[in-house]
Amino acid sequence: MFVDTAKIKIKAGAGGDGKVSFHREKYISAGGPDGGDGGKGGSIMFVADDNLASLADFKYKRKYAAENGAPGEPGRRAGKKGADLTIRVPRGTIIREAESGSVMADISSDEPFVAAKGGRGGWGNSHFATPTRQAPRFAKSGTPGEEWVVELELKLMADVGLLGFPNVGKSTLISVVSQAKPVIANYHFTTLSPVLGVVYIGEGQSFVMADIPGLIEGAGEGVGLGHEFLRHVERCRMLVHVLDAAGSEGRDPIEDFQIINNELKTFNPELAERPQIVVGNKTDLATPEQIERLREFITGAGYEFYTMCAPIAEGTRELINVIAAKLQKLPPVKRYESEDIPVEFFEKRQESGFTVTAEGDIYSVESPWLLKILQRTDLDDYEALQYFQRVLISSGVIEALKEKGISEGDTVTIYDFEFEYVP
Ligand code: GDP
Ligand code: MG
Repeated sequence: MFVDTAKIKIKAGAGGDGKVSFHREKYISAGGPDGGDGGKGGSIMFVADDNLASLADFKYKRKYAAENGAPGEPGRRAGKKGADLTIRVPRGTIIREAESGSVMADISSDEPFVAAKGGRGGWGNSHFATPTRQAPRFAKSGTPGEEWVVELELKLMADVGLLGFPNVGKSTLISVVSQAKPVIANYHFTTLSPVLGVVYIGEGQSFVMADIPGLIEGAGEGVGLGHEFLRHVERCRMLVHVLDAAGSEGRDPIEDFQIINNELKTFNPELAERPQIVVGNKTDLATPEQIERLREFITGAGYEFYTMCAPIAEGTRELINVIAAKLQKLPPVKRYESEDIPVEFFEKRQESGFTVTAEGDIYSVESPWLLKILQRTDLDDYEALQYFQRVLISSGVIEALKEKGISEGDTVTIYDFEFEYVP
C-alpha cells in the first residue's frame, strides 16, 4: 500500500531551568549568585530526502520529540543544549497544522524547515543580581518547546505527469526515456507507488517525469484508486496523456481519453486546464485507420497528438523533444506558500486558563495557549503587538495581574516576552 498522507505529533524540547546557587569557596562565607542559565531545548526540523518515496515510516511512528535542555549549573555554567531532531520526508511533502489545515511548509527545496522551536533556557540567578538585589534566590524556568499535530501530504515534484488507463504503456515509456525501472506488466496491475524518472535531453538539461498509479473510472469521485493518487499530478507543469491507439482489450481510446479528462475535472478543474498533450501508443498493433481516427478526434478537441511504439523507442525521442520545448515556456513547479494559523484557532483555547506568579517585582504569566500565540506572532510587528495586548485584556490576564498587586514599572514576563507594566 502506497502511503502518501500521515498525521504525526511533534514536540520540541523544553529549555532547561535556570539554576539558583551561590559561589562557595573555602574561607569565603557568602559568595555572590552564580547559578547558570538552562540550555536551549532541541528543535524539530523537516528535511527533504530523495531516497524516500513515501510517507510509510510515519504509519508506525507517530510521535516525535526533541531533547530537553539541561538545567543551569553552579559557577555560571549553562546547561547543555538539547539535541535537535531532524525528520526526513520525501521531497514534495506539504506540512499542515492539523486542526486549522494551514500550510506550515512545503518541503520541496533542500532548506531544512524548523517546524517546532525548542524552548529557551531560563536565566540562572546570577542574571538577576542588581546593586539593590545582591542575593537573588530565584531563577527562571525554561520555556516549553513548541508542540504541534501536523499532517503530512506528499505531492510529488515532477515536471511532467503521465496520464492513462492501466496497460496503455506509461511504465514502458518512462523506462525507455529515463533510468527509472518501473514494473511493466501485461495486466491491470497498476503501479502502486509513483515512479519518478529523470529524462536527460543533453547539455545538462533534464526534466522529471512521473508515472503515477493508473487512473480508473470513478476515480474522481473517490471510487477506487484514483482520487487518492490524483494529488500527484497536481503539481505537474504539464500532462502527457497516453492512449492505446490499437484499442487492444476491447477498449476505445477516445472513450478512455474522455473518461480520464472528466476525472481530472471532477477532482480539480484547474488540472483539466493544465497543458496536456496526447500520445497514441502501440502503433505496431494499430491499423492506419485507427490511428487517423484517433488523431482527428484528439486534434479536433484542441490537443496536440503524437504517436509512438514505446517498447522499441519509436517516436519517443520526438515526444521528449516536444515536451522539453514546451516546458521551457511553462512556469516552474508549484510551491505551496506557508500560511498564518488563524488566531481564532488559539482563542478557542483560552478556557484552558493561565497562572500568574509574583516574585518581588517580577510577575510571570504561564499559559499554554498564550505560549502558542507568542510562538506564532511577530511582536516586532505593531499590529501583532496590538493584537496580543487585546488578548491579554480580553482573557483576563491584566485583571489577574492587578489582583496580585502589580504596580507601575513592575516587570511582566510571559515566557520570552517581557514588558514593563503601565496601568
Ligand atoms: P501501464 O500500465 O500504462 O504502465 O502499461 P505498461 O507500460 O506496464 O504496459 C502494459 C503492457 O503493454 C506490457 O505488456 C507492455 O509490454 C505492453 N506494451 C507497452 N507499449 C506497447 C507497444 O507500443 N506495443 C505493444 N505491442 N505492446 C506494448
Ligand atoms: Mg504502469
